[in-house]
Amino acid sequence: MATTAGVSEDLLAKYEPVIGLEVHVQLLTASKIFCSCSTRFGDPPNSNVCPVCLGLPGALPVLNRKAVEFAALAAMALQCRINEVSIFARKNYFYPDLPKGYQISQYDKPLAEFGFIEIDTNNDGGKKKIGITRLHVEEDAGKSLHEGFADAAAKTAIDLNRTGVPLAEIVSEPDMRSPEEAYEYLTRLKEIILYTGVSDCNMEEGSLRCDANISVRPRGQKEFGTKTEIKNVNSFRFIKQALEYEIERHIGVLEGGGQITQETRLYNAHEGKTYGMRSKEQAHDYRYFPEPDLLPLVVDEKWQAAIRASLPELPEARRQRMMQEYGITAGDAHTLTLTREMADQFESAARTAKNPKRVANLVQGELLGRLKAQGLELEQSPISMAGVRASADLVESGAISGKMLKDLYDLCFERKQDFPAVYEAEGRPEQSHDTSALEKLADELIAANPKQVEQYRAGKKTMIGFFVGQVMKASKGQANPQLVNEVLTKKLEG
Ligand code: ADP
Ligand code: ZN
Ligand code: MG
Repeated sequence: MATTAGVSEDLLAKYEPVIGLEVHVQLLTASKIFCSCSTRFGDPPNSNVCPVCLGLPGALPVLNRKAVEFAALAAMALQCRINEVSIFARKNYFYPDLPKGYQISQYDKPLAEFGFIEIDTNNDGGKKKIGITRLHVEEDAGKSLHEGFADAAAKTAIDLNRTGVPLAEIVSEPDMRSPEEAYEYLTRLKEIILYTGVSDCNMEEGSLRCDANISVRPRGQKEFGTKTEIKNVNSFRFIKQALEYEIERHIGVLEGGGQITQETRLYNAHEGKTYGMRSKEQAHDYRYFPEPDLLPLVVDEKWQAAIRASLPELPEARRQRMMQEYGITAGDAHTLTLTREMADQFESAARTAKNPKRVANLVQGELLGRLKAQGLELEQSPISMAGVRASADLVESGAISGKMLKDLYDLCFERKQDFPAVYEAEGRPEQSHDTSALEKLADELIAANPKQVEQYRAGKKTMIGFFVGQVMKASKGQANPQLVNEVLTKKLEG
């Protein structure tokens, strides 16, 4: 399979890739953008349709306010400027799943412009801003089905349930310089959109779709090279692979003295190759013109302020704050903010914990490893954040030892039960703080291991570990390690 590593270093030193992405996200409104039909996914074909979304003559669109609010919220999260007045436009083309013969979109006056996403670059710790040219609102088209119905070999079926579902299209500047940066941009974009809650960004269900534009140019050249556009790739990993393949192909063509044809291409993930679909010369002239059935969209300052008030704290800002507030590492903060739900749960646990840092440490040190071993996501953990907090508090107060906590966590995973339930079922075990029992154990051990005692007293202080280990074992992990250490030190020194 093609990788950038597959492109020789020499050629990459000679040519610079330039990438710009166009991402469509489906907005999670209950009804469509210009009618009241349901947007539910997976309903029987053509069950959610009406004269408006079927494009019957005379039917008039009525704009869904919620779709505007969701799009504006996404735009704000992407640091865009909202245009107080934006214009809906007809994008005219023929396609069987586009019953009106045009798509209502926005063209020269989009809802929002001039945003950016900050990404981590390959070189350690570096940040880079990727510009967002615009975010506009539009309606989705229907779906052409080529399988899953009688006579599918000979026919194409049309499902218009998706026709008129609201989308936000987010167009980036051609600011990315490698497939890795494109991957990083998409990851950050999805994370931000998920935090706003305006889309579920589910790529399998088509609620997030990406077209990738790619060109290469000799390093040092100012003008961009001719681009190709890769359409309909259904995972971020495949987009990265498709870009790697295209970069190699572009460089190959140019090195061979040829020219890149501006065209749309499709990626075949099985073969790891792209294929030409239609060239720009054959491309439609969409004949955009203002939609006569809709007024200009006015999102005035008051409405903007109301929308902005519902803007959540965004992932990067949240990570920074959590590092400060709970004294956790960047790695901890990253893991704990992967989804907004998880971050919320963690914070509500941490805020009420005796020691927030211990909650973070337990998640990182005890929970994630066990989840990984079982191939589970954080969301599927048998131990909830509240459970982690309960266990952290028990360690903090000295009621249980770290070793006991590990054993209890193992039981939670075995039984698929949360910590409090297992702790109760085990009869609320407590570590021993009984010094007299410990002293007795220590005396026995010292008597039984004269050689080790001698070594310790001769200056090999690390021998203490051997004794502590023995006492912990004898107490079945119930002893308080710190207390054990104290008692043993006293005896051995004495
Ligand atoms: P088109 O008119 O073909 O739709 P646009 O200028 O609207 O092209 O840009 C569409 C997308 O392609 C944007 O994301 C933009 O950043 C990207 N893009 C534009 N020119 C190039 C180029 N030469 N190389 C790579 N990406 C490009
Ligand atoms: Zn409808
Ligand atoms: Mg364009």
